[in-house]
Amino acid sequence: MGQQIIVIGAGIIGISCALELQRRGASVTVLDRTGVAAEASQGNAGAFAFADIEPLATPGIMRKAPRWLLDPLGPLSVPPAYALKIAPWMLRFWRASWSDRYKAATRAQSALMDLSRAALTRQMQVSQGQDMILTDGQMQLYEGAAQFRAAARGIQLRRDHGIDLQELTSPGAIAEIQPGLSPQFTHGVLTPDWQRCTDPKLWTEHLARAFTVAGGQIAQAEIIQIAQTGARVRVSTTQGVQEADRLVVAAGAWSHHLTRQLGHKLPLETERGYNTTLPAGAFDLTMHLTFAGHGFVITKIGEGLRVGGAAELGGLTLPPNFRRSDILLQKAQRFLPGLKSEGGVQWMGFRPSMPDSLPVIGTAPGAPNVLYAFGHGHLGLTQSAGTAELIGDLAFGDRPVIDLHPYRPDRFL
Ligand SMILES: Cc1cc2nc3c(=O)[nH]c(=O)nc-3n(C[C@H](O)[C@H](O)[C@H](O)COP(=O)(O)OP(=O)(O)OC[C@H]3O[C@@H](n4cnc5c(N)ncnc54)[C@H](O)[C@@H]3O)c2cc1C
Repeated sequence: MGQQIIVIGAGIIGISCALELQRRGASVTVLDRTGVAAEASQGNAGAFAFADIEPLATPGIMRKAPRWLLDPLGPLSVPPAYALKIAPWMLRFWRASWSDRYKAATRAQSALMDLSRAALTRQMQVSQGQDMILTDGQMQLYEGAAQFRAAARGIQLRRDHGIDLQELTSPGAIAEIQPGLSPQFTHGVLTPDWQRCTDPKLWTEHLARAFTVAGGQIAQAEIIQIAQTGARVRVSTTQGVQEADRLVVAAGAWSHHLTRQLGHKLPLETERGYNTTLPAGAFDLTMHLTFAGHGFVITKIGEGLRVGGAAELGGLTLPPNFRRSDILLQKAQRFLPGLKSEGGVQWMGFRPSMPDSLPVIGTAPGAPNVLYAFGHGHLGLTQSAGTAELIGDLAFGDRPVIDLHPYRPDRFL
């Protein structure tokens, strides 16, 4: 019999890992306290943002951050009740913005993106999910030449990494691609081969179905305790104790609660994101739009549209502030004057974020049968198939195709 593996978390990371481990011959059980795509993987923007290779901690960001943080409904905010708690994470975020670390993180992000793009194609084939992944482009929008010039470094960086981009330098050129935008957007950058899924919840459910049809188990249980005991792992849950040969922790923004039990206090925080999903007919959107100066996007989800983004460093327990969703929708209405903004459903999700924008992918220090796969921040959907292949390599003792050093679990310990 093959290895028995337990995966904690039925988000896009846990389900992708489970499918890949099963494909390589393991007998896999996924445990989640709620079910498939119950948290961040449910309501995200559905983008495979392989072009987003730049970490959030860019050189000079700490000069801009105070201005953003002063606006409680701006693109980046810290609720006063969480300000002290987030301080150690912010310090590490600041360190991650130093030029050498920023450059190293960009290289690591880029390597994982290249792998993830290729791995997504393989995952689509394995799961027969080609119809759910579309390539219809993305346009990043700028207000005025100064804002566009300020983006030049990021644009060049992406070009240097071989990403195909087209610059648009007039409202007319933008309107040829997306009619109906406010003329305040004077410049744009088009990424023609940008991919997205039709709906991130349905995509995760689709992969989960492929996994269970092939014999995988998904069970509902809250994990209370994890431990490595000799050559086995032991997982205590609300539904009893389970043992296996190996364990994968893919519990999203809650993963650090589990890793602490193995002695690993990791600086995982959550960037809470907000959106509103509008019904069919809200606007004739041609592609994913990113409003660079405002920290939000508009994209197609199913027959409707999703307007969302923002990053609120507010932890896991404060109540959501849906004024944020309202503000983003009001802005979207200003930017797309023909947008019908009625009938929307609001949502808040917990991005699992490390200070250097890189996920944690690797073997738990001192617990060789426990693998970590979490902390993907804004890019969990994008990097899910690549992460799954790396976890597969680690579980089966194969040499990973990229250097895993930048994602190692002990880099902040
Ligand atoms: C507004 C917004 C927009 C986004 N847009 C994009 C995008 O366009 N593209 C992109 O790539 N990413 C995007 N993201 C980020 C992406 O959604 C996340 O990175 C990704 O979903 C994380 O997946 P995950 O499987 O690690 O975590 P989750 O989906 O949160 O799954 C973790 C699971 O673990 C379970 N769990 C936790 N603790 C326990 C426990 N003790 N016992 C049992 N189960 C437990 C939870 O119930 C949950 O189901 C966005 C996020 C937000 C909030």
